[in-house]
Amino acid sequence: MYPDTYEYNPFYPKSEDFKVIRKDENSGFGVISYRAFKKGQLVAIMNGERITDIRQHSLQIEPGLHLYDTHFAGYFLHSCAPNVHLDMQNMRITAVRDIEPGDYILMDYAQTEDVLYKQFPCSCGAANCRGWITGRKQAIDESDPLYQQFALTQVAAI
Ligand SMILES: [Zn+2]
Repeated sequence: MYPDTYEYNPFYPKSEDFKVIRKDENSGFGVISYRAFKKGQLVAIMNGERITDIRQHSLQIEPGLHLYDTHFAGYFLHSCAPNVHLDMQNMRITAVRDIEPGDYILMDYAQTEDVLYKQFPCSCGAANCRGWITGRKQAIDESDPLYQQFALTQVAAI
């Protein structure tokens, strides 16, 4: 899935194992696995451009340093009950639950991101869904019109 210009690594994701697809209007892109992975198993090694700003599909390596992977990991969907963990120091993606062929690769954006490019309402459906997703060091932006809309639906649901 990565350009040939990247140094060879046998654990890079292969196009026969994964596919980046446009899920729907709301979620945008996602990555489907065609392979099964057991909990604890290495899913892939990721790579990409190292950048200093936060972009829509970037992943934080450390404060001020981000990975911009526009081929694979940058398109993982968020879930409050993720099926992978990203080790951003070693670029390792590990299954934290069993993954079946046809499952989306799901990460928790707050696992890697201090601050999100954009906060958003979550519809992952997990029992522990946080509802409104922010970075792990980020307060809710109550001035965000999307948040105001989200807050209204929460009030309506009570
Ligand atoms: Zn959620």
